[in-house]
Amino acid sequence: MSSVIVRLLLPIFCAAAALILRSQFAGLDRLESDGQLLFLLRQLPYILLALAALIALLSDHAPEAGATISLLCGYWIIQTWLQSPLDSQPASQIFYLLTLITPSLIVAYALWPQSNCRQIAGIAAIVLSPLLLIVIARLYAFEHSLLLGAASSALANGFGGGHLSALTWSLYMIALPLCLGLCLKRQNSFDSSLLGCGLMTLITYNWIQLYSISAFMYAGMGLLLTLNITITLLQIGYRDDLTQIGNRRALQQTAKTLRGPYSIAMVDADYFKKINDQFGHDLGDQALRVIANLLKQTADGGKAFRYGGEEFCLLFKGKTKQEVLATLEASRQAIANYDMVVRDKKQRPKKTKQGEKKRGASRRNSDVRLTVSIGVACSDNITPFEQVLKSADRALYRAKAQGRNCIQAA
Ligand code: GH3
Ligand code: MG
Ligand code: MG
Repeated sequence: MSSVIVRLLLPIFCAAAALILRSQFAGLDRLESDGQLLFLLRQLPYILLALAALIALLSDHAPEAGATISLLCGYWIIQTWLQSPLDSQPASQIFYLLTLITPSLIVAYALWPQSNCRQIAGIAAIVLSPLLLIVIARLYAFEHSLLLGAASSALANGFGGGHLSALTWSLYMIALPLCLGLCLKRQNSFDSSLLGCGLMTLITYNWIQLYSISAFMYAGMGLLLTLNITITLLQIGYRDDLTQIGNRRALQQTAKTLRGPYSIAMVDADYFKKINDQFGHDLGDQALRVIANLLKQTADGGKAFRYGGEEFCLLFKGKTKQEVLATLEASRQAIANYDMVVRDKKQRPKKTKQGEKKRGASRRNSDVRLTVSIGVACSDNITPFEQVLKSADRALYRAKAQGRNCIQAA
């Protein structure tokens, strides 16, 4: 399943699960009469949110930790101050402030730069929410009368007959589309968490009078944040950061599941050191991304992994080397025919002839001549995976010796 679909479905799943569970449990008289069950239910968001915050802190994801701590603070405020009717004091003022601050914080965390817990941006992300709590307390203490007026009029003129002011709705109408857009654009599960938290806080505030709505919704947010941060960590562990394909660990993990025949192709970029030396490391990185993408697109039925450096591996489950040779030839040609143009004019060789000499005899108009050599081997059901890999590697060396930009079978 595409990762974009997972990122979009996960918040919807958590919000729906929280709503369904609430409708199942909250109607039960047992919940109201069973003090222990109610106590456990109210503690669940603290446990799940604290778990998510702990994982975020331990894995050095400062904005994720900050956003989670801000939700913990928000839930604590609801449980401490908002368990009385909203038209009573100070519930109305605190509710008013909370409904303005939450969507603003979601926007802030969505745009926050990625940072770790030792960077200034990261520390700021973490202390932002406790700081806001102090601000709320101060405002409430010193500007009691001013806030009272604003909160009462917002409650009395709630947008669409609800409790939320037009300003709160406007802030959510900025926060939710922003998170949705970022969720579709970036490969970042934190955007999915923020989208879900935006949705679930809005549901909580709009139906705040519903019995135990906050406990179910904040537990849903805790679950969503824990799941998303775990997915992020798994991706870091098994995905190559530069090319966004599986790394060597992912290949080894996949190898454990192999049954029956399979083929392995080792793919190595030719003269890659020259490309780096001539055009710079950034263009080298870009070239590695191009190779990974082309391998992914053209390796029909094969799974691409970055083995390390400028070496890739294609794994074809259930296929013999004769069956994959045509596919590998298509991949080799796609890479050799790719016109990679240097965007930064400063990096181009000054004279065309000089450039051609430097990059070898170029037949095309592109600036960078990108080719790969491939060695392929297949399993005989007895030979261990490591041995098949070594056979493919030996075939790759023969392809290099044959002049590169070609395929050799073991
Ligand atoms: P050959 O055709 O024999 O494979 O020659 P080669 O230059 O590709 O091989 P060599 O092993 O001499 O050099 C590999 C180069 O790949 C050296 C290293 O700087 C570069 N490289 C490895 N990983 C990366 C990376 O992540 N980014 C960039 N830009 N370069 C990388
Ligand atoms: Mg190489
Ligand atoms: Mg190499």
